[in-house]
Amino acid sequence: MPADAPITQDVLTIPRKLPEGGKVNLVGLTREQLRQTLIAHGTPEKQAKMRVGQIWQWIYQWGVRDFHAMTNLAKSYRAELDAAFTIEIPEVVTRQVSADGTRKYLVRIAGGHEVEVVYIPEEDRGTLCISSQVGCTLTCSFCHTGTQKLVRNLTAAEIVGQIMLARDDLDEWPRPGVGTGEDGPRLLSNIVLMGMGEPLYNFENVRDAMKIAMDGEGISLSRRRITLSTSGVVPEIARTAEEIGCLLAVSFHATTDEVRDKLVPINKRWNIETLLEALRAYPRLTNSERITFEYVMLDGVNDSDADARRLVRLIEGIPAKVNLIPFNEWPGAPYRRSSNNRIRAFADIIYKAGYASPIRTPRGEDILAACGQLKSATERARKSRAEIAAEAGLPGATG
Ligand code: SAH
Ligand code: SF4
Repeated sequence: MPADAPITQDVLTIPRKLPEGGKVNLVGLTREQLRQTLIAHGTPEKQAKMRVGQIWQWIYQWGVRDFHAMTNLAKSYRAELDAAFTIEIPEVVTRQVSADGTRKYLVRIAGGHEVEVVYIPEEDRGTLCISSQVGCTLTCSFCHTGTQKLVRNLTAAEIVGQIMLARDDLDEWPRPGVGTGEDGPRLLSNIVLMGMGEPLYNFENVRDAMKIAMDGEGISLSRRRITLSTSGVVPEIARTAEEIGCLLAVSFHATTDEVRDKLVPINKRWNIETLLEALRAYPRLTNSERITFEYVMLDGVNDSDADARRLVRLIEGIPAKVNLIPFNEWPGAPYRRSSNNRIRAFADIIYKAGYASPIRTPRGEDILAACGQLKSATERARKSRAEIAAEAGLPGATG
């Protein structure tokens, strides 16, 4: 975007309750919204709280999508529910499995838009990387999603629905009478909001979806197993702690405002100093809840020893870990990945200063599932190589 263009977030969000054949989707409603919805459709007020509990468990604990299977409800009530409501999650259009086991789902949401969801299995856990928007209003110059124009915010249903569809695919819903699902390590144990979009520009829907994911009578993921990654939407950072309570990751990526302005243009609105102030105020109860600084390693751009030393000075006093992300290339990208030796030298300086500095192993590269590579192929609002370079203030912008 031009240097002086305002970074706005005048994006569309479609109504929370998508009428599908006139029916209201119950997925994505908070407990209170679900209660109100049931009452509005004739459930007696006295019973509503209990019905919410029952229906909630069927949807989020057992993964049931059919009201007729909710056997602790009277048959006539099940029929009433079925007439008024649906239990709908986004549809998986394609599923790709990488040689390393990473799964990438292309998911269709209302309006025919598509987003990507990535499941990354590890030895003792599995992380689902979910999206919060179709595209992104921000235009980080190294990010594939940033080259795609924002189409709209995802609804809470579409956000929590990504977790549900992955559990479907992993066959990880407990079966009534068979298992509780708590009898082994979970396949889907962690959530990272690191897919497409800036989650803090879709705050309410992300919050409601994460509240549902954390609810102990359902998907039941601990807030410490959810990490929200932001490019630095400073005013929403304190709210994230208060209203969601999950862990925070920040796309830092540069150690001077000059470079960060180019890589992460939101820096022109909230610069490094302002961002660090907000991070210093983020409540952390234990060291395991330290803030993750994400740092993409771009050859010759932000990867010098001097950068590493500046980074250490900047984050001083913040319980932090620095996640070094080797740049994942995509067609037309105006950067190259730093060499392995450079990344190791950079990591070493940070490590010696007392911070964990893991180098993230790219996963699912063969299926373009790695960080920043997500972009729905159907999205035609693709920018040219020259436009991308121009926005990044790089040479070759006219070529
Ligand atoms: N919008 C949020 C979350 C999604 S991006 C944010 O920016 O934090 C998730 C992470 O992937 C961010 O740290 C982002 O900077 C990083 N990323 C984006 N494109 C990348 C690329 N091509 N290679 C490596 N990391 C990338
Ligand atoms: Fe948006 Fe994050 Fe990509 Fe920046 S890095 S364009 S904020 S998705």
